[in-house]
Amino acid sequence: MKVLIADDDQISRMITKAAVEQSGHECIVAEDGDSAWQLYQEHGPEAVVTDLMMPGLNGLDLCRAIRASEEDSYTYIILVTSHGSRKDVLAGMEAGADDYVTKPLDPFSLHIRLLAAQRITSLHADLARYRSALTEQARTDPLTKLHNRLKLTEDLGLLHSLDDHDYCLAMVDVDNFKSYNDIYGHQAGDAALVAIATTLAREVRKADAVYRFGGEEFLLVLQDQSPATAASVMERVRSAVHDLRIAHSGDPDGVLTISAGVSAFTDGHRAGSEQLLREADLALYAAKASGRNRVTLASALRTE
Ligand code: GH3
Ligand code: MG
Ligand code: MG
Repeated sequence: MKVLIADDDQISRMITKAAVEQSGHECIVAEDGDSAWQLYQEHGPEAVVTDLMMPGLNGLDLCRAIRASEEDSYTYIILVTSHGSRKDVLAGMEAGADDYVTKPLDPFSLHIRLLAAQRITSLHADLARYRSALTEQARTDPLTKLHNRLKLTEDLGLLHSLDDHDYCLAMVDVDNFKSYNDIYGHQAGDAALVAIATTLAREVRKADAVYRFGGEEFLLVLQDQSPATAASVMERVRSAVHDLRIAHSGDPDGVLTISAGVSAFTDGHRAGSEQLLREADLALYAAKASGRNRVTLASALRTE
């Protein structure tokens, strides 16, 4: 473990450092509370062994500062108190300390506490990993491995809170997909969805994003595009899916195709994300109505 020691008394510091090193841990040493706080932020130690009385930031302040700053990690804090008074210990534990040892420091007492520290911090690290994996899993579509609708909602919220740079939304729907399932079976349908999802992700830029919106519908967020440039991107995407040549005897083209509706967040049209989604959906509906395997702009519908 990386252990931060904070003590303004040189002798105490040396004794604590020797004990921590004897226990097999790496030491970072601070001569007062302020530099301890600085070193803590720089190094992110797993454990802190801190004196209670120090000039500047004292042990209690340091505990509070550490607890307030923690997000996913957990720092095990051990107070070193010369008083051994119950009042000091109580104040320290209330400020966020996990345990305490009294001066003069007994290396064995510190050693066993550092064993507990190691166990607790490694449990917290496991929890942080699980939490992050679950967060990711909850935002991922299991079939296509694309981001899902929950992630889309979060990303659109973020996009609107950041600034007002231009972007386009493209709502994509696979054409005649019900009959594809009916003819080739649900498993083949799943495989086709994965192939289409992979193609969509491959055809867009790094800054863009592709989501599975639901069933056989996908949503693309295209950054810094005008309606005209987004339409040409989507034309390329549509053609790439056509070029997969996934045979579909129930489709007039003989292969699986997609239709897309594009809406835009641009100067003169700073609409909310809900409205942009509705507009993209209406444009998609128009693409379907006018024959499928095509891209339709929402702005074209507005001016008709
Ligand atoms: P349109 O061209 O108008 O979009 O017609 P469509 O047949 O594609 O549209 P419809 O909404 O009638 O059918 C969508 C089909 O997509 C029905 C549903 O079973 C299928 N589907 C949705 N999700 C999945 C999935 O995860 N796997 C498979 N295999 N099929 C799915
Ligand atoms: Mg469809
Ligand atoms: Mg559909």
